Amino acid sequence: MPFQDLSLDDSMIQKIIAKFKRNNMIAWFVPDRQTALSKALSLIPEGASIGLGDSVALQQIGLLDVLRRESKLGNYRLFDRYRHGISPEGVEDDGLNKYRALTADIFLLGANAVTLDGKLVNIDGAGTRVAPLIFGPKKVIVVVGINKIVRNVEEGLRRIKEVAAPLNAARHASKLPCVRTGKCNDCSSPQRICCYTVIVDKAWGRDKGRINVIIVGEKLGL
Ligand code: SF4
Repeated sequence: MPFQDLSLDDSMIQKIIAKFKRNNMIAWFVPDRQTALSKALSLIPEGASIGLGDSVALQQIGLLDVLRRESKLGNYRLFDRYRHGISPEGVEDDGLNKYRALTADIFLLGANAVTLDGKLVNIDGAGTRVAPLIFGPKKVIVVVGINKIVRNVEEGLRRIKEVAAPLNAARHASKLPCVRTGKCNDCSSPQRICCYTVIVDKAWGRDKGRINVIIVGEKLGL
């Protein structure tokens, strides 16, 4: 079954937002990437330390550029994993900042999938996105394009293996089998990018409102 045959009208989006609230998370819908940028910035207090998860969406809405610029001016303390940029040729990591991100005030990331009942589905290679998503930073901001909305967790996992992971592996310029074939074959490569599956069914009750999800009415990320 295709992933994008959902008719996501306003009432459907409002239902998703309500489901996130029931799951102790806060979600917003914004129409486009410019509004997403303003919304994300409004959630980040001046002077905050900020960690980054690997995400094309953060770059696409222009958030990384703003944070880098403002960080140089001393307005934020950005733990930038990608000083060399996210490029089609591959991602170059600044290793130490991955660890600093675990105790940052704010952690920013995208999501592999968002379900109609307000859950987040992510699969990581090393866990540098999913670990701070569930524990550590005081506030988490997830930026996700409307293309990532799926019916349920099962469909989200299928989307990751059939769509996102092969494209992501190609972005990292790896020689994984899915880059060659476009399909997952449950590889055992040391470069495998699908090692840790984290589904946020519900944020912990004492962490109500810690995870903030900005759903953008545009296609973003992979
Ligand atoms: S398990 Fe391996 S082959 Fe499958 S999508 Fe992940 S990296 Fe690619």
